[in-house]
Amino acid sequence: MIDFEEYVDLSRLSTIKIGGKARKVYFPKKIEEVQYLIKKSLDENKPVVPIGIGSNLIFKNGILDHIFISTKNLKSFSFKDYGEYIKLFLEAGVSFKTVVKFVKKYNLEGFENLSGIPASIGGAVAMNAGAFGSEIFDILDEVIWIDNKGNIRVSKKEEIEHSYRYTSFQRNGFVYSATITLKKSDKDISKIIKQHLLERNKKQPLDLPTSGSTYKNPKEAPAGFLLEKAGFKGKRNGDVGFSEKHANFLVNYGRGTFSQLINLLQDAENTVKTLFGINLEREVKIVQ
Ligand SMILES: Cc1cc2nc3c(=O)[nH]c(=O)nc-3n(C[C@H](O)[C@H](O)[C@H](O)COP(=O)(O)OP(=O)(O)OC[C@H]3O[C@@H](n4cnc5c(N)ncnc54)[C@H](O)[C@@H]3O)c2cc1C
Repeated sequence: MIDFEEYVDLSRLSTIKIGGKARKVYFPKKIEEVQYLIKKSLDENKPVVPIGIGSNLIFKNGILDHIFISTKNLKSFSFKDYGEYIKLFLEAGVSFKTVVKFVKKYNLEGFENLSGIPASIGGAVAMNAGAFGSEIFDILDEVIWIDNKGNIRVSKKEEIEHSYRYTSFQRNGFVYSATITLKKSDKDISKIIKQHLLERNKKQPLDLPTSGSTYKNPKEAPAGFLLEKAGFKGKRNGDVGFSEKHANFLVNYGRGTFSQLINLLQDAENTVKTLFGINLEREVKIVQ
């Protein structure tokens, strides 16, 4: 039997700590269990919602009866040393923190710019997470995934549709595992990672529950710049607000609710559209 919990407080599964309850959350331990759940979603005509660290997920209030699949129990991590480089085989639930520890130990190059992102491998691949000019697709080789019909598929990076913070997994597919390649480096990788973490700490409101960047950066200007110009830096609706430290970061000051959050987003989107004629595209994934 697949592990599950009932009436799960979804705010615990989202870093902004807002949301209602999930009728059930499943915690599969192997690929066949994920396949089974995806087939079940077809039979029951319910959407599948994969959950990683929850750092880009925002849940509605009330009781949600989707097929929630947490990757918490998919944490297998192995690697193969090829001399000049190392290949890592990572199940979806492996956290970036775990990868960073390994990267530091072997002084590997290619992951340092991504190091401070609070992500699981599955969430990062699905989102094509990135920072400091790098994205996970730069180091990705291939992905084992399960399509919407429950079939296991293996795709090379080049076969996967992807762009800035977008991959086709957002429409179709559960990322089961990923293979990445990292080069043994001559640089001091731990030092670079430390610098990136300091920079994040300086610019991001890491002391409050947050869901990170709310909007993708439009081609015209960074979303944070537009929000600030539109008067949203530090603007609150009840206990939800755009951070004073970083205008594109939504934060929860304590008892923030989903309706406060949604109203604030709609206000920001309408204002930016009226002032600059730009449609802000949400990066955060809202589950209703
Ligand atoms: C403080 C902070 C800083 C951040 N900084 C950055 C940054 O620098 N760069 C950046 O790109 N992002 C950043 N983010 C956003 C977030 O960390 C990334 O999008 C990350 O990749 C999400 O990973 P996750 O495991 O938390 O995914 P979740 O938030 O759990 O899920 C995100 C989306 O991916 C889907 N998903 C999750 N797992 C899978 C899976 N196995 N298969 C298919 N779909 C799946 C979910 O259903 C959801 O749609 C930041 C967030 C926070 C809170």
